[in-house]
Amino acid sequence: MNILVINCGSSSLKFQLIDATTEKLIAKGLCERIGIEGSQIVYAPTGGEKNVNVTPMKDHTDAIRLVLAALTDEKTGVVKSLDEISAVGHRIVHGGENFASSTVITDEVIKAIEECNDLAPLHNPANLIGIAACKELMPTTPMVAVFDTAFHQTMPQEAYLYGIPYEYYDKYKVRRYGFHGTSHSYVSQQAAKVLDKNYEDLKIIVCHLGNGASVSAVKNGKCVDTSMGLTPLEGLIMGTRSGDMDPAIIEFLCNKEGKNVSEILGELNKKSGVLGLSGGFSSDFRDLEDAYEKGEEFAIRTMKAFCYRVAKYIGSYTAAMNGVDAICFTAGLGENSPFVRRTVCEYLGYLGITLDEENNAKRGEDLDITTAESKTRVLVIPTNEELAIARETYALVK
Ligand code: AMP
Repeated sequence: MNILVINCGSSSLKFQLIDATTEKLIAKGLCERIGIEGSQIVYAPTGGEKNVNVTPMKDHTDAIRLVLAALTDEKTGVVKSLDEISAVGHRIVHGGENFASSTVITDEVIKAIEECNDLAPLHNPANLIGIAACKELMPTTPMVAVFDTAFHQTMPQEAYLYGIPYEYYDKYKVRRYGFHGTSHSYVSQQAAKVLDKNYEDLKIIVCHLGNGASVSAVKNGKCVDTSMGLTPLEGLIMGTRSGDMDPAIIEFLCNKEGKNVSEILGELNKKSGVLGLSGGFSSDFRDLEDAYEKGEEFAIRTMKAFCYRVAKYIGSYTAAMNGVDAICFTAGLGENSPFVRRTVCEYLGYLGITLDEENNAKRGEDLDITTAESKTRVLVIPTNEELAIARETYALVK
């Protein structure tokens, strides 16, 4: 059964066609600059050549039309007709408190997603445009919504409430929601498989370290805490986001710099994190690691602050779960940086962690990077959010 996985941004659209029975990737690609001059579609069938087609796309419907044309193309396509696409799985960023799991998309579900637009004004409307475009072009194909926030809906109140007047939760649902849920769910389940233990018997901490970064605590198969909040701005220091900070800084900077709240928030989202800390050098951890190796002071302070924050979250989630069996690293940086994993683990001597440096140097596969004597396991698990979305979709439509 072939599932088309769609991840719609405001001007981009990523897609993968996955055979949900064998879990094999059939084709993938990306539409960029939708609605902007110079739009293009990149299409790559598995085992075939990558095609780049610069062509106008006035909106997401145009983009999806091109995706479907590429998938069914006589020469380079991978299916004969759209009938061979059994369902579409959509990544939806914010499901608020309306969605604790994936769901088949109906008109009521679309309305409930719209209700969450306030909570993710940049992302949810784009996700909804993707749903509308697929509905127009494939009206009889079932569609499933898979939410970034759903996995974290099991958090207890003490973890998701902020210490602010309760009426703001009551009136506006201001609370911690968390993001990257599909990744945290996939990686924690995969960790149980690697450890050959029951998912429901484990205490797992997942560190999703990419350009966006978050940590979650998964106890007995349920998320009990996570570092991102009402929005993805909270928690770790990220590529360009500040993560945790004293909210009074916002007013302080407004007054000092003569800027308004939106301007400062823009800086906290786009000009902060490791980009900001390094004095504007780079948001890419590869550049920062190179500079660190060269002994550049700006890179040393940045990498130290980044790793320290990750270690601090691991400590607090160990406390939250009264122990931890396995710590997992995933996403661009977590999967590819032995340096970051080592630096974070250096803080965790109290957990009896001893790294196996030979395994820590490997990449591209599920790995236990600790020695046999280590009291806590540390794993590297490449995340696969698209496969997780395809699995959820398959489970609901098969
Ligand atoms: P993601 O958001 O998961 O795509 O991750 C992107 C981040 O991963 C970028 O900041 C990259 O610099 C980082 N990254 C990717 N490959 C490496 C690598 N080999 N070493 C260090 N960081 C990497």
